[in-house]
Amino acid sequence: MLVLDGKIAAAAVKATLLEQTQTLKAAGKRMPHLAAILVGNNGASETYVASKVKNCEETGFGSSLYRLEADVEESVLLAKIAELNKDPNCDGILVQLPLPKHIKESKVIEAIDPTKDVDGFHPVNVGRLVQGLNTFIPATPYGIILMLEHYNIETKGKNAVVIGRSNIVGRPMSILLSSNIAQGNCTVTICHSHTKNLKEVCLGADIIVAALGVPNFLTGDMIKPGAVIIDVGITRVEDTTAKKGFRIKGDVNYEEACTKASAITPVPGGVGLMTIAGLLKNTMKAYQGL
Ligand code: NAD
Repeated sequence: MLVLDGKIAAAAVKATLLEQTQTLKAAGKRMPHLAAILVGNNGASETYVASKVKNCEETGFGSSLYRLEADVEESVLLAKIAELNKDPNCDGILVQLPLPKHIKESKVIEAIDPTKDVDGFHPVNVGRLVQGLNTFIPATPYGIILMLEHYNIETKGKNAVVIGRSNIVGRPMSILLSSNIAQGNCTVTICHSHTKNLKEVCLGADIIVAALGVPNFLTGDMIKPGAVIIDVGITRVEDTTAKKGFRIKGDVNYEEACTKASAITPVPGGVGLMTIAGLLKNTMKAYQGL
C-alpha cells in the first residue's frame, strides 16, 4: 500500500515555486504577495493562517497578515478588502473562514476582486471552474489534484465517490474529478447527509474522497480492495494524554482502510499540506495574471 505523503508532494510543489521566486529576485522583480485576513482568534484558524504565512516565507513570497477583532463590523472588513483589491503590490487575498456569525460570508467572498481570489471561492471563479476555463481552483481540491499528479494515480474512467458537498471541498472536488483534465475523467458520485446506502455506493468506488468532518467515518467494510482513499477531514478530538489536549482526526479509519486501500493519505501529513501548496500555486498564478 502506498502512503500519499503530503510532506513529499508539497515539498516538490514548493521547490518549483522557490525556483520561480529566485529567478524573479535575480531579475530584480517584485515578489508575489499574499494578504491574509483573520477575524477573531479561533484556535484552528490561527494555526492555518500562521502556517500559510510561514509557507509564503519558505517559498520566497511576501505576505501580510491583517487581524481584526471578532466583533468587527462587516463594513470594516469589506473596506479592508476594497483597499487590498486596489493595492498593486498585493496579488492574492485570503479571508480565513469561518467568519463570526454577524458577518455574511458570501458578501465577503464576493467583495474580493476575482483576479485576486486565490481561495477560488468567488462565484466568477467557481463558474469558470464549472466551464473548464482557466481559474483559481479552491486550494484543497487543487491540492488533492496535485497529490494525485505527484503520485501518478490513474483517474481516467474510474468510479470516484466524493463524500461531502461543501463549496470549499466536496463540490469543487466532484467537478474536477469529472472534468476532462489529466487527474479527472472519472465517473463521479457526490454523497451528502441525505445519501441512502452510502456503504454500497462507496463499495463501488475506485477512488473515495472523504470530506464530511466526521472522525473515523469511512471504515474498512466500506472500501473496495485496491481503492485510493483521500482523507480531507480535520477534526480536533479531545485527548487528555496529548500535549495540546486534543488530537487531529481524519474522516477515515486509517488502520482499517490500510488493510483495503492501494493508496491513502494520512491525517495529519496528507491533504492539509497540499492545501497550502494549492494556495501558493494560486498566488503565483495571480501574480502572473490569470
Ligand atoms: P462542511 O461541514 O461544510 O460540509 C460537510 C459535508 O459533509 C456536507 O455537505 C454534508 O452534507 C456532508 N455530510 C455530513 N455528514 C454526513 C454523513 N453522515 N454522510 C454523508 N455526508 C455527510 O465541511 P467542509 O468545510 O467541506 O469540511 C469537511 C472536513 O474537511 C472538515 O473536517 C474540515 O475540517 C476538513 N477540511 C480540511 C481541509 C484540509 O486542508 N485538509 C480543508 C478544508 C476542510
